[in-house]
Amino acid sequence: MGDCPVPSSSASTIIRGGTVVTVVGDQVEVLAGYTILIENGAIVSLEPDGRAAASALDTGASEVIDARDHIVIPGLVNAHHHLYQSLTRVLSDAQNVELFDWLRTLYARWRHLNDDAVKLASSVSIAELLLSGCTTTSDHFYMVPRRSDVRHESVLDAAEALGIRIHLCRGSMSVGESGGGLPPDDCTEDEDAILADCVRMLDAYHDADPLAMRRIDLAPCSPFNVSPRLFAATRDLARERGVLLHTHAAETKDEERYCLETYGRRPIPFLRDHGWLGDDVYLAHCVCLSDEDIALLAESRTGIVHCPCSNMRLGSGIAPIAKLLAAGARVGVAVDGSSSNDGGNVLAEARQALLMQRVAGGAEALGVAQAFALATTGGAAVLNRDRLGRVDVGMAADIAMFRKDDVGLAGAAAQDPLGALILCHAPRADRVLVAGRTVVQDGRLVTADERKLARDLNQLVADGPFR
Ligand SMILES: [Zn+2]
Repeated sequence: MGDCPVPSSSASTIIRGGTVVTVVGDQVEVLAGYTILIENGAIVSLEPDGRAAASALDTGASEVIDARDHIVIPGLVNAHHHLYQSLTRVLSDAQNVELFDWLRTLYARWRHLNDDAVKLASSVSIAELLLSGCTTTSDHFYMVPRRSDVRHESVLDAAEALGIRIHLCRGSMSVGESGGGLPPDDCTEDEDAILADCVRMLDAYHDADPLAMRRIDLAPCSPFNVSPRLFAATRDLARERGVLLHTHAAETKDEERYCLETYGRRPIPFLRDHGWLGDDVYLAHCVCLSDEDIALLAESRTGIVHCPCSNMRLGSGIAPIAKLLAAGARVGVAVDGSSSNDGGNVLAEARQALLMQRVAGGAEALGVAQAFALATTGGAAVLNRDRLGRVDVGMAADIAMFRKDDVGLAGAAAQDPLGALILCHAPRADRVLVAGRTVVQDGRLVTADERKLARDLNQLVADGPFR
C-alpha cells in the first residue's frame, strides 16, 4: 500500500441541473437547478444553473454530469461500523438475543477470523455503503484473535480499492473471560502490544489533512472487555498525537450493571472519571443515559453516534436523541456492524432514527430536516470533519445522486425532495462521487465487481467456520 492514496480526479467535473439538498448554516435547504463545479477533489463553485453556465463551460471540464433527473446530496457520513461483520450477518443463533448473548455467540465464530475474510467482508460492507450514497465511514475494528493473521491494513486496502473515505479505528480488547470480561481470552490482545501497534498505525497511516481519505482513530472496544489502564493509556496516546478516541458506551442495561458491579459507576461517569469525554471523543449508542449523563455529554462536546436499527434489533432500547439534540450535543447516525443491523444504508438509518424517536416522543420528536442532518453534518461533526457533510464551496467533492424517477421516490420527489429522501424507503444511489471520483454509476459499483464480491462472501460463509 502506498503512503498517500489520493483517488481524487485531477480534472474538473460539472454536475449540472440537479436539485441539491444540503445543510446551509443550520437549516436544510432545497436548491433547485444548481450547478456544482469540482476540481482536485473539492467543490469550487455552487451556483444556479443560469449564472453558472458560462463560467463552468469556460473551465473546459473533462466531464459534465446531467443531474436534471436527480436529487443531489452530500455524501452520507457513517460514524460507526464493524465492516468485517458482513461475515456473520443474520447468524441463526444470534438472531433473537440481546447484546451480551449476541456477542458470546459471535465471539465463537469471530475467533476463527483471518485476514482474507476481513478483507472480503469489509469490501462487501463498503460496497453496500457506497451503493446507498455513503462516502465516509468509520470502522471500529477490535477483533484480532491471537495466533491469527488479521491486519488492520486489510481494511485500509479495501477502502482504498473501493474508494471510500475512512476513519479506521484501531480497536482493542484486552480483558477476556479469565479476567472478568466478556470475550474468550483468545480473542484478546496484550495491552502493551496494542499500544505499540496504535503508535505504529498512527505513524504509518494517519493523515491529518482536512480532506484526508484516511485517518486513524484509537478505539478500545467497551468497558466490559478493556481495562481502565488501557482506556487511560489510549487516551494519553490519542491526546499526544491529536487524534480521535472512540468506544461503545451505555448501549444496554447489562453493560450498565457490569460497570456498576466492576467499577462502582455507570458507563458515562466511568468514562468521565477516565478523561474520556470531550470534543475529541465519539461514543457509539448512548442508549441508557440519565439526565445528568445527557448534560455531561452536551457540555463536554462529546460526539454521540446513534445506531437505531442495531438498538432495535438487539432490543437495547431507545436512545434519547431528541433530548441530546435539545441539549446541544453533537450527534451523528450510523448503521453499526453488519451482524446487528444487518444492512448498511445510512439514509435508511436516518429514517429509523426519526421513526424511533416518534415512537418514544410523538410526531414532533424528530423532524425530517433533523434526520437528514444526522446523516450528513451530524456525522461529519462527530468525526471532526468540517469539510465533509455539505454541498458547498470548499467542501470535499463527496456527492450522492438519487433518481427522481425511481419508483420508490415517485410522487414524493415532486412533492418534497428532502421528505422523499427521509420518509420513503431509501433507494440505491444512481451515482456517487468520493473526492470527485465516480465510484457508483448507473446504480452499479465501478471500482469493483459487486456480484463477485457477493458470490465470494456467500461461498466463504457456506464453506467456513462462520455459520
Ligand atoms: Zn458497534
